[in-house]
Amino acid sequence: MHWQRISLALAIALGGVLGSPKLSQPSQNSSQGTLRWNDASFPVENFQGYSSPFGYRRSPTGEPTTEFHNGLDFAAPEGSYIRNWWAGQVIEVSDDTACGTLVRIRSGAWEHVYCHMKGRVEQTPQGRAMVDRPGGVLILEGQRVPTGARIGRVGMTGRTTGPHLHWTLRHRGQLVNPAVVLQAMYGTQAQR
Ligand SMILES: [Zn+2]
Repeated sequence: MHWQRISLALAIALGGVLGSPKLSQPSQNSSQGTLRWNDASFPVENFQGYSSPFGYRRSPTGEPTTEFHNGLDFAAPEGSYIRNWWAGQVIEVSDDTACGTLVRIRSGAWEHVYCHMKGRVEQTPQGRAMVDRPGGVLILEGQRVPTGARIGRVGMTGRTTGPHLHWTLRHRGQLVNPAVVLQAMYGTQAQR
């Protein structure tokens, strides 16, 4: 893992967010009650860098805008595997919004959403599923997924100009800057 680069990016991205309200770890309601931040999985393989931070941003044409970016973008080569951040239950698969093909997972008080994936939604005998056959991935709505499981691949579905993972986090329904969570994960890992 490219912790040096993450550290640098976080120093830039975090700004004043370190004083934000304390976030409870998802572990309370997970099947493995002893999980800690440093057991969480970084959400993508072959990470190349952060291509767009959480928050208000400029439009792709450079025009000022009030568009709010509700997640963090991880650049990675198309086809790179996406890994489940924290063990939980798949509560939605979808492929018909600007988010493209997505998987939404609930882990206790947290929801984590992975956008612009390869694959599409299909009705299977077991129910609705995100299916990426070339990647060997099939994710059923309602299924449980362990931490670090490969749940899809980086693609360009939905509204995107290049391959990346858009990752959205909510805690008790409130959006959370993913950089804060990565800081918590990285901070504890650094003490190992
Ligand atoms: Zn994004």
